[in-house]
Amino acid sequence: MTLRDPFGRRVTGLRVAVTPRCNLACLYCHHEGEVGSPHRVISADEIAKVISAGADLGIRKVKLTGGEPLLRDDLESILLRLPEGVEVSLTTNGILLAERAESLAAAGLARVNVSLDSLRPAVFSGITGGTAADHRRVLEGIDAALGAGLLPVKVNFVVLKENEGEVWKMVDFARDRSVVLQLIELLDQPGRGVGGDLSGIEAALEARAEDVVTRDMQRRRKYFISGAEVEVVRPMDNTEFCAHCNRLRVTSDGKLKPCLLRNDNLVDLAGADLEEMKRRIERAVLLRSPYFCARDR
Ligand code: SAM
Repeated sequence: MTLRDPFGRRVTGLRVAVTPRCNLACLYCHHEGEVGSPHRVISADEIAKVISAGADLGIRKVKLTGGEPLLRDDLESILLRLPEGVEVSLTTNGILLAERAESLAAAGLARVNVSLDSLRPAVFSGITGGTAADHRRVLEGIDAALGAGLLPVKVNFVVLKENEGEVWKMVDFARDRSVVLQLIELLDQPGRGVGGDLSGIEAALEARAEDVVTRDMQRRRKYFISGAEVEVVRPMDNTEFCAHCNRLRVTSDGKLKPCLLRNDNLVDLAGADLEEMKRRIERAVLLRSPYFCARDR
């Protein structure tokens, strides 16, 4: 079966924030659309159950995020409880990845996205608040993920004024390490960083690329440049971002979140058994409406 919302969009992905806690403080962070401090944190049982319920309803891709998901030490045991046929990936800042990559892979994690906004420790520190040692651990984490077969490893790079000059170095890094580079447009929040010139960067990528393909998801464009793969993720003012959105979110306090940009239509998962979770997922899917298409927003 496939879940469909009232606008005919298929829902095939679940993005689960497994914790609100983080060991960095990125100046631009959107906190996965969560506001305020949660009263509780989603339990391992709820995470396993909501993913299993989603799988019964046709969800095939799951992303674990946060906060920093690797601050939870029960991820491996959660992964071992998940049904077959669901591809689970993880978005992490990479600081704790080197010591977990093998055990996560063994527990069934398919791949990782590692956030890395600069190759220069000082710029990394300015953006994330992390230390030079943290920066080194992120790089080690990327290598460990490659070694553990968590492929493809994708490196998430939010394009900011601070780092836009580094894009071509990042392209070289992607080619050298055989990782996919994701250039992410800053989702704007007043006072939380200034985005770089992604349009100019994309024009330059296009000029140098041997091949360009458009992925179905959010019409993402992917550029192939002398062996490097570079994907551009542009959520802002993008009706296509909504039109091709195929995911439902779960907040770190255990609520289904139909849209990254809204908090007025959450569906609480508390107290639900597997069958009830399925009904709540179906209810949340019916609440999905394209944010950028609404006239009053
Ligand atoms: N702590 C993990 C990490 O750093 O990857 C997972 C959580 S973080 C919120 C997930 C992803 O969202 C990261 O790749 C981050 O770069 C991206 N992100 C956060 N705030 C953003 C914003 N304002 N605009 C675009 N991307 C953002």
